[in-house]
Amino acid sequence: MSTVSASTKIDVLVVGGGSAALCAAIAARRHGATVRLVEHAPLSLRGGNTRHARNFRLMHDTAHCYVPDSYGEDAFMNDLHRVTRGATDATLARVLIRGSATIAPWLQANGVALQDPGCGVMPYSQRTAFFLGGGKTMINALYATAARIGIEICYDSEVVALPTSDGQGGNVVIDRGGITELVSPKALVLCCGGHQSDRAWLRDSFGDAADGLVVRGTPYATGRVLRMLLDAGARPVGDPSQGHIVAVDARGPPVDGGIVTRITAIPSGIVVDRNAQRFHDEGEDARKTHYARWGERIAQCPGQIAYLIMDAHGRARALPTALPPIEADSIAALAVKLGLDPAALEATTRGFNAAIAGGELIQRRTAQLAPAKSHGAVALAVPPFAAYPMRPGLTFTHFGVAVDPQMRVIKSDGSRFENIFAAGMIMAANVLGRGYLAGLGVTLSAVFGRLAGEEAARHAAR
Ligand SMILES: Cc1cc2nc3c(=O)[nH]c(=O)nc-3n(C[C@H](O)[C@H](O)[C@H](O)COP(=O)(O)OP(=O)(O)OC[C@H]3O[C@@H](n4cnc5c(N)ncnc54)[C@H](O)[C@@H]3O)c2cc1C
Repeated sequence: MSTVSASTKIDVLVVGGGSAALCAAIAARRHGATVRLVEHAPLSLRGGNTRHARNFRLMHDTAHCYVPDSYGEDAFMNDLHRVTRGATDATLARVLIRGSATIAPWLQANGVALQDPGCGVMPYSQRTAFFLGGGKTMINALYATAARIGIEICYDSEVVALPTSDGQGGNVVIDRGGITELVSPKALVLCCGGHQSDRAWLRDSFGDAADGLVVRGTPYATGRVLRMLLDAGARPVGDPSQGHIVAVDARGPPVDGGIVTRITAIPSGIVVDRNAQRFHDEGEDARKTHYARWGERIAQCPGQIAYLIMDAHGRARALPTALPPIEADSIAALAVKLGLDPAALEATTRGFNAAIAGGELIQRRTAQLAPAKSHGAVALAVPPFAAYPMRPGLTFTHFGVAVDPQMRVIKSDGSRFENIFAAGMIMAANVLGRGYLAGLGVTLSAVFGRLAGEEAARHAAR
């Protein structure tokens, strides 16, 4: 590895390449700082998990062209309290929610197009706005703006060392394809995501179950910078063994499968483990977001695998998927294709069909069956039978570093790193100590990224 000389001209160095980093870089530049953004991924994979996102949550007192009705500060706060069950820093949560009120026009002013909920293909939502063209289009728009306003953008550039002294970040070491560069920015904004792509770290936190986890997003969220921050004395927040885990198609890629691998048809059939046994009520939650509850359950199954089994009618009720289901003309033949014991799957299906009680289709439940199916219990009787193998898909963990309301990283002794700021998933656990709200990931990264960039520019100007 060769080393090139230290750069002295940068006010603000932003580490990362997703929504937090881009919002930080653009905000810092618009506040007069010279800015460099370093993204570990190559250009073709830039944008972290943000390129998989579709929508973001925002407080609004009146309707806008991108979001109908209203969603006030207290309603947003109540939703956050409900999902985190109190594991949220109230001060930072208020900063986030109030910041969300102006983030949509700010993103629009920086080139991001939002969808009119009245004429788009995405669901109508009072609480979230949808990106026109999805997260990748949003990311491309922000990169174009960043380049236009003079931000230096470096791909294939990984921060590999983060020396700190006297509460300050010093020479940052960047590896650019085997060439080492030292950069001494006046302020540093760390927006490099979580650590969910580090298998060894996941194994430390989840034990052997980590091997069965699919990582839904970027392989570049390795948590290397997070580890360096913690080693330098940053205060940890959250729990690395808790995460936002959803049911995904086991045939999808082990990383970066994105949103299309989610399995959303669970209420239309039964779910069995690798012993062909049912283990939870498939009718308990029929909302569109039920897949988010099933990730944790599948993570508890032997081998972290489960199978959704449907008949032809169930399949007709299900939404289309990226990969077609595995099909067979009988339950026994389906079991063979899935590698399950045919007799065991036949017995489970027979027992389920026999336990179905009467009533309206949607309310129909099983009787004297454990676990029950409490809604939508319809016999699996009409071939062809169809199945999806499912694994737990990890989006992010509830773990990161503590920050103050100016986004400065806090040390374990309560003091601050004077010139080190953090935004996005690397500090999300401050407000999202557990649970998840649709659209909160991007809101959190964009609002806190923008704020961190402004604060970093202010610090650099002193
Ligand atoms: C499939 C999927 C769908 C999602 N859908 C939604 C949605 O619809 N709405 C929503 O709000 N949220 C959604 N999320 C969550 C959301 O995408 C994230 O919470 C948010 O985008 C995170 O932004 P970020 O900038 O903090 O991190 P990321 O976008 O993950 O960016 C982290 C960046 O840091 C870079 N990096 C890491 N380490 C280094 C290093 N050492 N040096 C340099 N660069 C480094 C990475 O390459 C990456 O570009 C989804 C996530 C996934 C995986």
